[in-house]
Amino acid sequence: MSRYIEVALPIPVNELYTYKVPDGVLAENTIGKRVLVNFNNRYLTGVSVNLCNKEIQFEVKPILEILDEEPIFSDKLFQLTKWVSQYYFASWGEVLKAAMPPNFNLTSVKKIEIIKQPTNQEISEIQSFAPKRAKLLQILLKYNGNISIQSLQKELNSKNLSPQIEALSQRGLIAIHSEIQKQTETKVKAIKIADYLLDKEEEFNSVFLEIENKSNKQAQILSLLFLEFQKGKSFLLLNEVIKGLKTTYSVIAVLTKKKIVEIFEVKKEISKKAQINLSKDESKIELTEEQNKIIKKISEYIDKHSFSSHLLYGVTGSGKTLIYIELIRKVLNQNKQVLYLLPEISLTPQIVDRIRNFFGEEVAIIHSKISDNERNQIFTAILQNKYKIVMGVRSAIFSPLKNLGLIIVDEEHEPSYKQDNPSPRYNARDTSIVRGKIENCPVILGSATPSCESWYNASLGTHQIYQLNKRADGANLPNVEIVDLREAKKEKNLKGNFSKLLIEKIIERINQKEGTILFHNRRGFAPQLFCPDCGNVPMCENCDIALTYHKKSNKLVCHYCGYVTPAPKFCNVCGSDEMQEIGAGTERIEEELKQILEEKGINARIQRYDRDSTSQKNSSRRIIYDFMNGDIDVLIGTQMLSKGIDIGRVTLVGIINADMHLFFPDFRANERTFQLLTQVSGRAGRKSNSNGLVIIQTAHPGAYPIVFSAQNNIEKFFDKEFEMRGQLNYPPFNRLSKIEMQSMNLDELTSFSKIFFANLPNNQAGFQFIGPVFPNVPRLAKYYRQFIFVKSSKKIDKSGEKLNIILHNTLQKIESTIKNIRINIDIDSYQNM
Ligand code: ADP
Ligand code: ZN
Ligand code: ZN
Repeated sequence: MSRYIEVALPIPVNELYTYKVPDGVLAENTIGKRVLVNFNNRYLTGVSVNLCNKEIQFEVKPILEILDEEPIFSDKLFQLTKWVSQYYFASWGEVLKAAMPPNFNLTSVKKIEIIKQPTNQEISEIQSFAPKRAKLLQILLKYNGNISIQSLQKELNSKNLSPQIEALSQRGLIAIHSEIQKQTETKVKAIKIADYLLDKEEEFNSVFLEIENKSNKQAQILSLLFLEFQKGKSFLLLNEVIKGLKTTYSVIAVLTKKKIVEIFEVKKEISKKAQINLSKDESKIELTEEQNKIIKKISEYIDKHSFSSHLLYGVTGSGKTLIYIELIRKVLNQNKQVLYLLPEISLTPQIVDRIRNFFGEEVAIIHSKISDNERNQIFTAILQNKYKIVMGVRSAIFSPLKNLGLIIVDEEHEPSYKQDNPSPRYNARDTSIVRGKIENCPVILGSATPSCESWYNASLGTHQIYQLNKRADGANLPNVEIVDLREAKKEKNLKGNFSKLLIEKIIERINQKEGTILFHNRRGFAPQLFCPDCGNVPMCENCDIALTYHKKSNKLVCHYCGYVTPAPKFCNVCGSDEMQEIGAGTERIEEELKQILEEKGINARIQRYDRDSTSQKNSSRRIIYDFMNGDIDVLIGTQMLSKGIDIGRVTLVGIINADMHLFFPDFRANERTFQLLTQVSGRAGRKSNSNGLVIIQTAHPGAYPIVFSAQNNIEKFFDKEFEMRGQLNYPPFNRLSKIEMQSMNLDELTSFSKIFFANLPNNQAGFQFIGPVFPNVPRLAKYYRQFIFVKSSKKIDKSGEKLNIILHNTLQKIESTIKNIRINIDIDSYQNM
């Protein structure tokens, strides 16, 4: 019987490490559970993946703790994560870590204990020869050691305090311990009426009268608590009371002092607040013949309980979601579960409400705005089989559902299914196919603008394909008009970024109380400031990229690394006071339109919908609600509004500049342009009695992604696109992967990347290496970067294994030259600029 197990650790090295189980524990009972281990004097959370039956010839450390009662990884999830690790060149431990909620990964923190109080004399002695050390000591004394090393470093403005801490420890003043940071349940404060008052109505009444005479606010609090108590709520959350009654903590403190109310802690539950429902009642909709046909066909596959893959191509508004809903219902009836993936931007409140209308509390929802704590609770509940449907973004592909009957990947073309950083750099859409094979269940990829990869696979017969060419409720697809920006400029028909036609149509809609969506895929006011005197453009300190000007906050922001600095009044090179704002972001579009309408004396409410205006929880819900109800006339937004918004009163979509993505130095630029235009256009005229209009402004009216999107002709688009991709050996015909090398030192980087390139096999059939090249942003967050691209043939290397071996071997050969270099390998990469 083995006493040893193999543990996968969340480190970039793809190896398993052997540990010993404690006495009295069966090694096989640890498999699939998290274990805490000591690795190179650090505590790490790994996963026990195998029994170790090898002969042990060396001393093996024991595991420190088994963190789970029940396994969190099944054999099937092991298979899946292992595949991800191999295909995407990540360590198994990294993939397992990505498959768990973030705070399942316990690590150690260093804690300091004061073991001897120094005398004043001792302190002044230290002060005399090491002032910083004395300051450190004083802070430690002040906090009685209860301060993290990170906070200490911040407070002392120091990058590394180890020598100082070490010195204090040598003097015998302090001791350093490693401590595990355990996940603690988040508690929140709650408030209730004191029990003795609730028991006796008379007493309560007299207290209430007394308070009512003195303080209106206090009385309000008390009566709210009482009313809710009568409805069966024994307490309310303190926060909600303060917010709801617009009161302050100090008012409540008076009541607690008088022992009228009590404040105590409760476990924070996932909030199930009653929210405005943003969806209509769809329960009585009769499905169309086309919808029913597709449901019937895919149902046959569901009944087979084996893997199959399907591409559902349906124009915007064609009723794909109701097809999913029908199929989900069928799977649930068979007592099986459904995994429903959506990209972040389409996981809008509207779609969530639609699914909840049908399946209520049986749906778990995972997106980026839920807290780590909620994520934890949802994950645990999924493990306990409490949900039938998991609806979530990329990482939800690893959800520990035990009895999957169907996987849906909606908006399958979305680049956000691909994780760029950190490792594992996986694509959840492609991973879903592998999961379907492992789980023996069908996988449906759905989109109004399928990716080249999926369209190609369907053409090969790898996926079954289904088409919906008409809108479900009989509405027509919108009419599209193209405005040539070059001509408009010549003929002086442009006001800022608005053509005469667009202005005219917007005003028409405002007068008719219909909604307008304006699409502009860049937030902020202007992509750059520019000094006309010396040509200076303020750049990010950490990246080789111009800072974006945000007028509202009067700041310059780097959209790559987040660096923020106040916008300068004067050019920091020549001192000129005439800095100009070049180009336009959503803020500027908003300002221009406001001005245009004001000049014409038109009253309208304009609202931005981008990352800046929706950063607060529920703000996007509010905006959509107001827009639906006609309180907002014009919504101006980024790609956030290209998806999942189904609002009948929208009859006009304006695309401010269709060329924005057209000239990205990326082979997917045309595909992206086609998809964005088609998706955004699809927001218009979604109700049967309305005639939608789309106005596309472009300086390149002949560019084929624009032309074919306007004609709604996806076949022609693919013909043209595939011709180009084929000539250049790009996906979908071949695999394109990227090796990124980074260093703070430019010379070290360039010499290393040359060595890397030279060590790649240069005439292996089916493999082509290109580079090294500098990307568009040659320095990012202080690191210089270079890329080597790999094109590899899917015919010669079907599973990707050969590529994997080549990269492994090359890395091994050059191992000794890797110093101060970061290497990121990105298989099937999406970020190529
Ligand atoms: P998609 O997901 O393809 O964009 P949706 O499922 O969101 O399309 O449907 C678009 C709109 O059409 C929704 O408002 C939906 O309620 C409505 N709809 C869907 N199917 C039907 C139908 N058979 N009859 C009438 N309306 C429908
Ligand atoms: Zn200047
Ligand atoms: Zn930056």
